[in-house]
Amino acid sequence: MDGIESRDDARTKSGDAGNVKTLSILGATGSIGTNTLDVVARHPGSFDVVALTAQSNVEKLAELAKLHQARLAVIGDEKRLEDLKHRLVGTGIEAAAGKQAIVTAASEPVDCVMASIVGAAGLAPTFAAGAHAKRVALANKECLVTAGDAFMAHIAQHSCELLPVDSEHSGVFQALAATNPECIEQITLTASGGPFRTWSRDEMAAATVDQALNHPNWSMGAKITIDSATMMNKGLELIEAYHLFPVEPDQLNCVIHPQSIVHCLVSFRDGSTLAQMACPDMRTPICYALGWPKRLEAPTQRLDVTALSSMTFESADEARFPALALARQALVAGGTAPAILNAANEIAVAAFLNSQIRFAEIADLVGWTLEQADTLGLITAASSLKDVLGVDREARMLSVSRLNRGT
Ligand code: NAD
Ligand code: MG
Repeated sequence: MDGIESRDDARTKSGDAGNVKTLSILGATGSIGTNTLDVVARHPGSFDVVALTAQSNVEKLAELAKLHQARLAVIGDEKRLEDLKHRLVGTGIEAAAGKQAIVTAASEPVDCVMASIVGAAGLAPTFAAGAHAKRVALANKECLVTAGDAFMAHIAQHSCELLPVDSEHSGVFQALAATNPECIEQITLTASGGPFRTWSRDEMAAATVDQALNHPNWSMGAKITIDSATMMNKGLELIEAYHLFPVEPDQLNCVIHPQSIVHCLVSFRDGSTLAQMACPDMRTPICYALGWPKRLEAPTQRLDVTALSSMTFESADEARFPALALARQALVAGGTAPAILNAANEIAVAAFLNSQIRFAEIADLVGWTLEQADTLGLITAASSLKDVLGVDREARMLSVSRLNRGT
């Protein structure tokens, strides 16, 4: 029967039945990686796990590879290869190690790659996935932030499907499902405000690592959790949205929504605004990115609007959260500015997590690096991945030199 399907047909098609999809996960041991594998485990027969990669946690990588019967497990740290091989003896799972081995694993011609390595370290593997996989489910936001133009051109050149995993961008993608994107007037990303939403600048200046890691709504990796506390995360997401959707920087906005139920608001030129809502659990956008255009069953808490006492929205205070203002400046400057912002931020967040600098110094270091880079003529038009990686290296050296000098 053409046209409208019977209810039973529609149920079968929207359920788990269908072809088995081959899937590789870059950054399998992380927060997004393990949530993705949780979804995979709940859909037996739907996914065939090809490659799993991780940087240093051999024990967890081997355990996940065995549990999900992966064909290949790759550890970034080459010193841990023997340990990985030892743990995989008799399983038939191939083991490899090193940066290049991760890129090779990412180049396996699979149906879908979950790109969930954290930081600019994810660039080369995600580009490789874009060239060889049918679909990239993109969690690694740093790829779009640092090399957005080159990555979008690369994806188009290889006719790869790109599905955003970041919850806000997944929401925008869903809101655009039945609409011409040219009709967008404004995209608003929501931010929880993180653990310091109500703190003064002075209070934040003295915030400890544990306080900054204590996110009120989301359980995530350490780097993105600190980015949420500084609100750099929302700044990175504005840049990410700029590359994913056909809007100019002044059409992108963010608001604080402490309940993290509404993930985005997309306003159209006819005055209509669509919001995407879900309980804060990354398995919802992960299911969407893996299953699209179908929807996979997600094991998440369902939204009960009658149980919500209120949903509130407030403006973001860029004076208290200067990282957000810096990200917006980098977005407007364009070219290599976002890559410099990202590199300095990665160095600053790592230094904060090592108790080398104080919380407020994260944004200071990013701002200082952007100024220096500008003076040195490093802010130029971005072109290839190679150029971006070169600028990333120089910006890191600048930030580290400042750190080593002290303040
Ligand atoms: P995480 O720190 O929990 O995991 C990172 C993964 O990357 C690990 O498997 C780790 O082994 C691997 N990795 C780290 N450094 C590496 C390197 N140098 N080379 C190769 N692999 C390396 O991070 P996460 O929270 O899962 O976030 C992953 C990405 O997804 C980030 O870009 C983050 O911004 C984005 N993201 C995460 C969430 C979330 O809820 N966690 C939400 C939206 C977007
Ligand atoms: Mg997000």
